[in-house]
Amino acid sequence: MSNIRFHAVETASNRKVSVATPPQAKVSEYFGCKVFNRKAMSQYLSKETFREITSAIDNGKPVSLELAAHIAPSMRMWAMENGATHYTHWFHPLTDGTAEKHDAFVEHDGKGGMIEEFSGKILAQQEPDASSFPNGGLRSTFEARGYSAWDPSSPAFIVGDTLFIPTIFISYAGEALDYKAPLLKALDAVNKAAVGVCRYFSSDVSRVQSSLGWEQEYFLIDEELFNARPDIVLTGRTLMGHESAKNQQLEDHYFGAIPRRVLAFMQELEYEGWKLGIPLKTRHNEVAPNQFELAPIYEECNLAVDHNLLVMSLMRDVARRHNFRVLLHEKPFKGINGSGKHNNWSLGTDTGVNLFSPGKNSMENLRFVTFIVNTLMALYKNNALIKASIASATNAHRLGANEAPPAIISSFLGKQVSDILDAFEKSSVDDAIKVDSKKQIKLGVGQIPELLVDNTDRNRTSPFAFTGNRFEFRAVGSVANCASAMTALNAAVAYQLKEFKTEVDSLIDGGMSKKEALYSVLKKYIKASKPVRFDGNGYSEEWKKEAAKRGLDCETSVPLIYDAYTSAQSVKVFANGNIHTKKELETRNEVKWEIYTKKIQIEARVLGDLSHNHIIPVAIRYQSLLLDNVAKLKAVFPDAKFKSLAGEQMRLIQSINDHISEVTKDVDKMIDCRKKANKIEDAREKAIAYHDTVLPYFDTIRYHIDKLELLVDNEMWPLPKYRELLFVR
Ligand code: ADP
Ligand code: MG
Repeated sequence: MSNIRFHAVETASNRKVSVATPPQAKVSEYFGCKVFNRKAMSQYLSKETFREITSAIDNGKPVSLELAAHIAPSMRMWAMENGATHYTHWFHPLTDGTAEKHDAFVEHDGKGGMIEEFSGKILAQQEPDASSFPNGGLRSTFEARGYSAWDPSSPAFIVGDTLFIPTIFISYAGEALDYKAPLLKALDAVNKAAVGVCRYFSSDVSRVQSSLGWEQEYFLIDEELFNARPDIVLTGRTLMGHESAKNQQLEDHYFGAIPRRVLAFMQELEYEGWKLGIPLKTRHNEVAPNQFELAPIYEECNLAVDHNLLVMSLMRDVARRHNFRVLLHEKPFKGINGSGKHNNWSLGTDTGVNLFSPGKNSMENLRFVTFIVNTLMALYKNNALIKASIASATNAHRLGANEAPPAIISSFLGKQVSDILDAFEKSSVDDAIKVDSKKQIKLGVGQIPELLVDNTDRNRTSPFAFTGNRFEFRAVGSVANCASAMTALNAAVAYQLKEFKTEVDSLIDGGMSKKEALYSVLKKYIKASKPVRFDGNGYSEEWKKEAAKRGLDCETSVPLIYDAYTSAQSVKVFANGNIHTKKELETRNEVKWEIYTKKIQIEARVLGDLSHNHIIPVAIRYQSLLLDNVAKLKAVFPDAKFKSLAGEQMRLIQSINDHISEVTKDVDKMIDCRKKANKIEDAREKAIAYHDTVLPYFDTIRYHIDKLELLVDNEMWPLPKYRELLFVR
């Protein structure tokens, strides 16, 4: 085999488009056909059972074992009629991705044969052997069991031959071992708190739902090229590779025609998603070459999170059917954009009101301002926590890299809403309360235009932008479970709304009118939360200085960012609604530090291996060729002639030598630092050591390898180059 790289490039170039075969019917006819949704439930359950389960779901009430016992056999029947032979509890441990363990629907029938069975108990609860999921020492080894419990608010679905039952995953003592359990509690907390505040404005609101519409960015590369890059295979990103002469500078990829092979992949992904009831809507090319985006219509937050996890696993699967590999890493390639997952988030009432939309009269607009301002206040007071919720070893490469939001959380409101808040702050209570029926340019609360949506100037540099009727949290990483960000955000807003209500109520108790009380607290909050509002360029150096002056959290070291989870404020925020105890926050941080350390450790090993086994041997081989050439020149030509003929080769030999020795030196130093760090027991200290002492070598080692890539004969270079990874498809 001359070179695995050339073989990969050739195979990738000769790929045929594998056409996706769409179902014959219209989407509306098969949408959700693999989901035990309300339609299926109404067909398979008795009227009484259907009524009970839907009411439990709608009111967030627990499902009794008795009810589960009524549902399980019908669910099994539905699943078997739709091709399922197995079932699994599906949960979201604290790693990337999801966990599943399949069991067949079979039991002994007592007569030497088998029967299909699925009991209410099994539907409701399972005990996966959970001892090897990360738990931060929450369970001691002799009590290495947790259990998964059915989440009926996210409907069961079928993938392949298996019925998937969404579940939470908790320890016997009730501590959350997953992402879903705290999310559900945070959603409940924000529901309760927001309903409390909504009551100032109308008495008929009984439920507030948090909605999420995610936009998933990703890269696709050919599977042969993927396989020829051990760094991508093992870490999800390139640890080396010189920039391609052409990358995204012409901006010719964004919204361009979708390459045919990719389109076929997208189409098949959509069919699969639609069958699973995922309301996929948007697909397009992204800014970087071979980068794309997929977005559904927004849904209730918990369901949207499940759907995102499901989509990520569908993507991996469908990509392989098209000889692609999907890269969900936040920064697979240096020098071009990374991938994020914008989380479009809003709160809506059961009476059909979006709480981030202005209304038709002053009271409705006051409500709008109330929810905007409390969200800003939550963002301000929990600034470090909100950042911690999206921080990871992989997302750290993207944030602050002049293409994605900086590692500072601020909010962009746009001119219109900023003006409204400024006017509000300056106005007297009397002024502001006056209803103004005509919409004028001068903004008082009575005059906010109903439709802000068209008016949102787009500030792509803001990590938390108001976009007309929702906030767009853009700092979330592409591979992340959205639940982490959504739990922190909803919990922070819930706690803030509760504080707001307490303050307003105490003013009312003191004799103020409701409107006056709302106004005075809001005015105070608008002033207080000002530091978190920023409409300028978030990528600029000046902003970093300005943000520090304003007291925003500017920490960039991921292990230290996690400390925000256990601050006094965070502990209060998570105690509300019993989302997390302090102990739980501490142990979950242990898990985060461990994962951080392991990711950097793996990357360091891969980088060391590639340097020693791939790069340096090839560089030496090329250097030998040059030396050979020089020796022959010397043998053939007289001294003066030799010197002029061999000058360039000699310089190259020296240069290659310099880079090789730098790589070797730094790899050795990196290994030393790793060894030292590995001796540290404390998870936090260890993660800090990895961040401070191991990570910095990645850039210097890479620098010299990338230089070698430019010097060494292209024919010899073993790893697919950026131009091949990004442009061959
Ligand atoms: P872009 O930000 O790229 O213009 P879109 O306008 O298509 O994207 O919207 C992105 C996501 O925001 C979609 O999932 C969409 O359904 C969602 N979205 C729209 N309105 C809301 C809302 N009120 N609450 C939450 N998500 C929303
Ligand atoms: Mg968007």
